[in-house]
Order: sequence, then C-alpha cells, then structure tokens
Amino acid sequence: MTLQIAAGMVPLVVRARMAGGVAHAVPWGISLDGLLASEIRENTKAAAREAGTDYEPYSFDTVPEDLDLPLARCPGDGADGWHWAATFAYPEDDVPGPHVQYWSARPDQHALDQMSAKLPALVSERHGRYRSRVMPLPLTVCRDLAGRAVGDPAAIIELLTPIVSIGKKRSAGHFHMLTWTVDEEPGADRWEFAHRYPDGALGRTAPHSCLADTATAVATGGEARMGLRPPYMHPACRAQVLFLAT
Ligand SMILES: [Zn+2]
Repeated sequence: MTLQIAAGMVPLVVRARMAGGVAHAVPWGISLDGLLASEIRENTKAAAREAGTDYEPYSFDTVPEDLDLPLARCPGDGADGWHWAATFAYPEDDVPGPHVQYWSARPDQHALDQMSAKLPALVSERHGRYRSRVMPLPLTVCRDLAGRAVGDPAAIIELLTPIVSIGKKRSAGHFHMLTWTVDEEPGADRWEFAHRYPDGALGRTAPHSCLADTATAVATGGEARMGLRPPYMHPACRAQVLFLAT
C-alpha cells in the first residue's frame, strides 16, 4: 500500500506534554487527523464570523467535505475507503491505573425557575431528566500523549499550538497541556507511521486492504462499522474497518 505523500511531508511523532493526565471516552486516544480537522474547521468558522459571511454548519443530513489536512493519504481500499496517514493518540510514561475521578451536578432550581414559564412545584433531584448526578470520569495519567503521522511538520505544529487542553471536561479546567512538539523521523517507514503504534499494533481504524501487504502480523481489536476519516462521528464517514487493539 503506497501512501500519497506531498512535498515536504515526512514521518513524524507529535507529542502533547500533559500537566496531569487526560480523560478518554473510548479505550484509545484522540485521533490526530480529527484534531487537525476540528482546528481547521474552528479557524474557518472564526474567519467567517470576522468577515460577516456564512459557513456550512455541521449536520447529519449533509455529507461533510473532506478538509485539506497537512497529512499524507493512505488509499485504503483504493476507492472511498481512504484515510489520513496518522494514528490515534497513545500515552507515554503512563502511571498504571485505574484512575477514576468523580464529578457531580445538580439542577439549579433558581435558574430553572427563570428559564421556564410553567415549572412544576417540585423538580425532583432523585428521578427523571433533572436528577442530581455523580458520574465517574476514567483518566489516563501520563507524561505525554503521542501520535504518529506522515505529514508537514510546520503546518501541523501551527494548527496544534493554539490547543491548550484535550479530552473531556476541559471547561472545568481539566487536562491542560504544557507544550506541543513535532519530532521528524525522516528515515522511518512511512506505512508504519501511518498505521501502527510503536509496539506494532494497529494504531487507527483502517480497512482490511491496508493490512493486505504487511509481512508481520498486526494486532487489531476486531472489526465493525466505525469512522475512517474526520468527522469520525458523522454517518457518512463510517465504513467497515478494523479496530485498534486494546
Ligand atoms: Zn491504510
């Protein structure tokens, strides 16, 4: 499987030095291509707001256009099943867990009163939609979150630098990061850096055809329909893919 690599693109490792750890919703980390795509989208929205023009809103009903990321492409199945040459994030120097933090929330009765014209006499804190909650937040405590890719180092660091936190519950001040670094590894195997973690396991969602030419076995987590390109949660971006090993 030969990658489509533009001029100036090299194998590289992106690292986010974490202040304390990161919270994941899934067993694997945040996708580097998804992170870059969301930054490009945010920048496009900001520019449109500045210029007073419209931008295409995100909608499940429209097929999102593929943004031009500073990454190489893997042709995948040779048709629509292509993907960007980047892995999902993996922790480095992580502290063995499990680490679980809890957050709690309860409805603000005064605020509900102000927002609603017909508030019932009692909004129960024990039942129903507005009940109080105590929720677990699983953490990965690590020094760095890293991701492998084949791409344009300067363009990648420019997009990532404004990001100061990553993962869930960022608005509560969690999961602050200290620095972003991009280390070029020009001698590295390009296909490996587009698909595999350093331990050789599959590091991103990928169609079967990606692994057809590999001489060594690649550990995977089985297969199912899931996102292959950002926006990963959009139905139009899903395909039959191999999962990351967990
Ligand atoms: Zn591939």
